[in-house]
Amino acid sequence: MSLKSVFDAREIRTEFEKAGINPSFIPLIWKHVIASNAGTAIEWDQIPSLPSAAYPLLHAKFKPLTSSLHSILHSSDLVTSKLLIKLQSGSLVEAVIMKYDTRLGKYNGKPRSGGLRSTLCVSSQVGCKMGCKFCATGSMGYKANLSSGEIVEQLVLASRVSPIRNVVFMGMGEPLNNYTALVEAIRVMTAPPFQLSPKRITVSTVGIIHAINKLHNDLPGLNLAVSLHAPVQDIRCQIMPAARAFPLEKLMNTLQEYQKNSQQKILIEYIMLDGVNDEEQHAHQLGKLLETFQVVVNLIPFNPIGTLSQFKTSCDQRVSTFQKIIRGTYNIRTTVRKQMGQDISGACGQLVVNQPDKRSIENSGLLTDIEDLHL
Ligand code: SAH
Ligand code: SF4
Repeated sequence: MSLKSVFDAREIRTEFEKAGINPSFIPLIWKHVIASNAGTAIEWDQIPSLPSAAYPLLHAKFKPLTSSLHSILHSSDLVTSKLLIKLQSGSLVEAVIMKYDTRLGKYNGKPRSGGLRSTLCVSSQVGCKMGCKFCATGSMGYKANLSSGEIVEQLVLASRVSPIRNVVFMGMGEPLNNYTALVEAIRVMTAPPFQLSPKRITVSTVGIIHAINKLHNDLPGLNLAVSLHAPVQDIRCQIMPAARAFPLEKLMNTLQEYQKNSQQKILIEYIMLDGVNDEEQHAHQLGKLLETFQVVVNLIPFNPIGTLSQFKTSCDQRVSTFQKIIRGTYNIRTTVRKQMGQDISGACGQLVVNQPDKRSIENSGLLTDIEDLHL
């Protein structure tokens, strides 16, 4: 039987309780694993001051990390780094670090206080069942759910590259289709020793209604992002097959209820697809749909991906007209997502599928092995 991740909170808690070990030692163990810079090489015996029964138990059942950093690709401007992470099963998932380093003046070109502030985009599944037509991950189909430990390990591995302040679930997979692991992972991320604020964690979903209904109760304070992408049911169905199971009207009622309970703004993601959902009438429809909500709309330029060339990115003019209508007529805060890391397929929706073979990465000079990072 393969060893479990020590970051699988429920597993380790259960084992400790069975063995009569105080679970308050668990964050201490995590702290040591996080601080160790030696990849997966930390030995349980190197952690001092644990109850003696903890050592044989950790050896028998747990690994400090079940995943490993396979490779890192840095975008040419060094703002985005794509981590290819190998799971115990051999599957690869991706996590993307976006660095906003004020010292380099990298945040919108403007200086901003606070030093290095990185956002980590994590994966929740290998592949995805939802099959959105514009999404590279969707074209892979569903392969597996990540365990909560595997989700947390992405944060551990990324923290060794750059200090992480925000986490967004916008990598591979539909997080609300892996609900139990998601909730457990976020509870770990917001507790010692990670202690990320729930306000700095964003879960992006295609709109899994029954899961949104539970979310506020299970994870209060979290940011919710909804991939709406169309203002009416029939366009949504054309580009997102999941819309049939989760119809727009029901989804909006669910969001209304969510907002009433959480009292928080919702982020609405809207991918701009030329001639599909980017016309003026669509902007008005979207404005009307969202008028009664507290939302921020994020217009996302479509990242064209390999074989999925049936779509084109909307031109800048279209995007700006769309934005003006939603802002001007409906008074809704609307931003346009900055494109990052396109040269390494690191932008959302382009994950893993475009994975170059090893030789081509080496030739392009983008491959940095973990040893080269001088950690
Ligand atoms: N499954 C979740 C989270 C992962 S996708 C969701 O769909 O929300 C994260 C975001 O990237 C979503 O808003 C998704 O619609 C968007 N996305 C997917 N493919 C894209 C592409 N080719 N270009 C731009 N954004 C894309
Ligand atoms: Fe899955 Fe999100 Fe991609 Fe749709 S956009 S296929 S839900 S990962």
